[in-house]
Amino acid sequence: MFDALSQKLSAALGQLRGRGVLTEEAIRGGLETVRRVLLEADVGFDVARDFTERVQARAIDLPALRTVAPGQQLVKLVHEELVRLLGEKPATIRFASVPPTVVFLVGLQGSGKTTTAVKLAKRLALEQKAPFLVAADVYRPAAVEQLVLLAGRAGVAVHAEPGETDVIALTRRGIEAAKRARARTVLVDTAGRLAIDTEMMAELGRLKAAVPPHEVLLVADGMTGQDAVRIATGFHDALGISGVVLTKMDGDARGGAALSIYWTTRAPIKYIGVGEGLEAIEPFRPERIAGRMLAMGDVLSLVEKAEQSLDRATAEKLARKATTKKGMNLEDFLEAMREMRKLGPLESLLTMLPGVSRDMLKAVKAADPKRLKHVEAIVLAMTPEERRRPEILNGSRRARIATGAGRPVQEVNRLLAQFREMGRFMRGVAGPGAMPRPGRGAV
Ligand code: GDP
Ligand code: MG
Repeated sequence: MFDALSQKLSAALGQLRGRGVLTEEAIRGGLETVRRVLLEADVGFDVARDFTERVQARAIDLPALRTVAPGQQLVKLVHEELVRLLGEKPATIRFASVPPTVVFLVGLQGSGKTTTAVKLAKRLALEQKAPFLVAADVYRPAAVEQLVLLAGRAGVAVHAEPGETDVIALTRRGIEAAKRARARTVLVDTAGRLAIDTEMMAELGRLKAAVPPHEVLLVADGMTGQDAVRIATGFHDALGISGVVLTKMDGDARGGAALSIYWTTRAPIKYIGVGEGLEAIEPFRPERIAGRMLAMGDVLSLVEKAEQSLDRATAEKLARKATTKKGMNLEDFLEAMREMRKLGPLESLLTMLPGVSRDMLKAVKAADPKRLKHVEAIVLAMTPEERRRPEILNGSRRARIATGAGRPVQEVNRLLAQFREMGRFMRGVAGPGAMPRPGRGAV
């Protein structure tokens, strides 16, 4: 997500970061580059201009900018303003004081409404929000079938009336059924069109008036950049939306939609879809997204993901190890590699962390997952002493280990080099301060 954007933003800021003194001119130049990068990411013209002007005004007012680590301070400013641009605080569904909370999912055809409805339901089930789905896309029989199928897969109750075309009556009955089932959240999957048209809006308007929802979530395809912003504006003006779900953010979304929608419509992005699977949805957290965009890493997301998938005790132990001065030894390294494999491709995890260079990604990719067996063999061929203190591994020890593991000695050397690199990087991640440390510009 946002790979190109974050690379370019880091590069633009990287030029400023290393300087001892920042002149007004240097700031202006750097921010001009930032503005260009935003435009290339398909951020709206006005949004990009306002953004750089705000950063610039604050930067020039900052007296300390001439003294203490000016480049870092500027990056921090950019980060803060990005967070504001993205909506400041995380926003999720607002639940009604008296259940059930009724949520409409609206949007164009193919934007991901049906998938998102089920993903959300699945997530809400985990949060004890007793979800219930209503198949209100009455025009396409296949849409009803799709929802029923996915709901079954997710284990969520669904109200469907194949053949019924009166969407208001159907939705009313759906909500009644949800109440009888003691549901706390009702997600209504509505019909979309290929483009915004007045007929669709009028129909949604009638439905909204007849069966007032607590939330109207616009589901928009995040890959479509400024189009998504126009669609959001269209829906907001005609219907009123309470939030946005941006889907397909796992693809090569350039970031334009994410960066412009809130600022343009003031409707917060509440969730992002990050894949076709039913788990692939995340709450939208402006602070973290901004961190990712600046390649400042997303340590918090990583930690959270780790908590979900790893055995907790192991995760805590590894985190403790990784953050001590001494760092990990090779036994921990092996354990970490095994655990991290459970999280999915190591590569995608590492891109969330700050300070990970392309070389390191390559190295890790090479080590994952087929080589894990070899790594294991090499580590197991070491004595406990060697695992704890890899610095004692001289040439003859390495040769012995290679023979013992049945691997070439170059591979032993490579593993040790990788391990050193990883140790350095882990200590970097755990570096000082609550603020994630910006990457070194290489990312
Ligand atoms: P609807 O017409 O708005 O109901 O859209 P659907 O829910 O049927 O989704 C259209 C297509 O987009 C389907 O093939 C989905 O699998 C896919 N899709 C939806 N959300 C995401 C997402 O976050 N990432 C990816 N990669 N695909 C998605
Ligand atoms: Mg659908």
